[in-house]
Amino acid sequence: MIQAPNPHNFQECNAIKCTEKVRKNAFMCNAHWFKLPDRLRALMFKASRGRSINSELPKEVTKEYCIAASKCIRYIAQDEGITLAGDEPKLVFYEHREFTKKPMR
Ligand SMILES: [Zn+2]
Repeated sequence: MIQAPNPHNFQECNAIKCTEKVRKNAFMCNAHWFKLPDRLRALMFKASRGRSINSELPKEVTKEYCIAASKCIRYIAQDEGITLAGDEPKLVFYEHREFTKKPMR
């Protein structure tokens, strides 16, 4: 079992191999955030329900948010020529998450 980072203390940029420290709960460092195409940033904003600057994690990490986050992380990795094994903790955190069945508001 791979240990997923605690979303509430996650202080590192979500881009693979990036160790840049970001404001608590920010998704990526500015360099990576602005590397994302508009459509992916828009997807993150939508998934975090307009609650955020630099797509701060929403209070409830929804499936929609995880899908968007995973797309962004994969986009940056591809852009930087990083081959993903799929077990990177930053990816696992978003791609192998269990969701409660209760409806999201
Ligand atoms: Zn970064």
